[in-house]
Amino acid sequence: MSAPDPTKLALNTATTRAKWNLAEAIDGCARHRIGGISPWRDQLADMGVEKAARAIRAAGLTVTGLCRGGMFPASTEEGRKRAIDDNRTAIDEAHALGAQCLVLVVGGLPEGSRDLAGAREQVTAGIAAILPDARAAGVPLAIEPLHPMYAAERACINTLGQALDVCDAIEQAPSSALGVAVDVYHVWWDPALAFAVARAGRARLLAYHICDWLVPTRDLLLDRGMMGDGVIDLKSIRALVEGSGYRGFHEVEIFSKENWWQRDPDTVLATCKERHQQCC
Ligand code: ZN
Repeated sequence: MSAPDPTKLALNTATTRAKWNLAEAIDGCARHRIGGISPWRDQLADMGVEKAARAIRAAGLTVTGLCRGGMFPASTEEGRKRAIDDNRTAIDEAHALGAQCLVLVVGGLPEGSRDLAGAREQVTAGIAAILPDARAAGVPLAIEPLHPMYAAERACINTLGQALDVCDAIEQAPSSALGVAVDVYHVWWDPALAFAVARAGRARLLAYHICDWLVPTRDLLLDRGMMGDGVIDLKSIRALVEGSGYRGFHEVEIFSKENWWQRDPDTVLATCKERHQQCC
């Protein structure tokens, strides 16, 4: 497997969020010649959507995704409606940025609920409700399946196959408006991964997120590894993803409270570039 195209590297700003605001992350990408960026909505709100859009355009960056929409399940009708309204706002923001997709972390069980199947139905209904808005805005929706350890609190869509089933339940023929985000942290363990990536194909595979799985993992949320420091066979997964026709960016997304978030972000970005070439 040859080294990946270095121009495909993108920064998910979660990777630098402890030390850099969005403006600093945009400058950092430009300085390190990283061509793609994926902002989070809280940092986007702090900077202001219009100002951020201008700065990103001026830096010549591609917005590989906006993080994040989703969080659909709620215990009341009113709560579900609020979630849908918030997703519509996120679609507007993604449109303003020219984002290649809005990443959906779909949400887990409503508080006090044990009805996982019901939560999953609410997710499908929520995505179906916002899809016309996404289509009108030209913002594809990318369902990101999360590792099953997050099923209760963050996302009750837990495998790539399950995410694709949701896509197929909502629209019979794949359009460019609905698909999946493949994050290696969440799917590397899945024995059906190769099949699911091939099934997604170019039409449904909208984003590719990279990092590594550390052994041991000390925190379920904030201890992701830099590429090459863990046990994920990143080269094989890239071969699958590119083999399915994906030609988009490789977005580094590392939540790392005790390690990478403590370091100088310029060092982190330099390391990302190096490891992308060596390990991905
Ligand atoms: Zn991700």
